[in-house]
Amino acid sequence: MNKALTKILDLFWPKQCLNCSKNGRYLCVDCQALINLSTRYEVNVDKLDYLFWTAPYKDKIVQSCLHCLKYRYVKDLAEELSDLIISYFNLLNNSPILEQTRAQEIVIISVPMYKKDLKKRGFNHSEEIARSLSKKLGIPLVEQALLKTKKTLSQMELKREERFLNVSGVFAINPETKGVIEGKKIILIDDVYTTGATMQECAKVLKQNHAPEIWGVVIARD
Ligand SMILES: [Zn+2]
Repeated sequence: MNKALTKILDLFWPKQCLNCSKNGRYLCVDCQALINLSTRYEVNVDKLDYLFWTAPYKDKIVQSCLHCLKYRYVKDLAEELSDLIISYFNLLNNSPILEQTRAQEIVIISVPMYKKDLKKRGFNHSEEIARSLSKKLGIPLVEQALLKTKKTLSQMELKREERFLNVSGVFAINPETKGVIEGKKIILIDDVYTTGATMQECAKVLKQNHAPEIWGVVIARD
């Protein structure tokens, strides 16, 4: 949607905070401050060199943001969610990511969606968060760096072991952008880390393609 049209629509349907209904943003500054931001990250989480999460999944405001983004198609919420990531990075002492923004050899990518699912939603929610974060950090975004080549069941409906089987072998490097990400450190964005099955499978494919370091960044960790 072009900017002028968005502005006109905003006149009739102004953005409202989804928590308190205040006009202006989908998540107002006051409600963002109510989120219990994480102050931690982990190193060497299986195939991820780092795992960063902005908040626990049980946080109700975070849950409703993610729900609106994914199931009510509020694409612009990606802006607020990337702000949340930045606030979280700022809370970390000596945030390795913020220091890395000065490095040249780093790119942002996202967990991909299957093409039919992407068509249905109209956008990849993780890629929208990645796009917004890329602009704010000045780190290049590589769109569709990974492809999801098979339709899978929803992870939410499956038990832990089934989740790993469900996503096994479903991701591939996009041959068109392979050269762009080769040899680069990768910031891999997704919405939620639960068992980690999806992100670990993506990381496996990236490591098989010689990614030197992968930093998983999610909004919420369950
Ligand atoms: Zn609010």
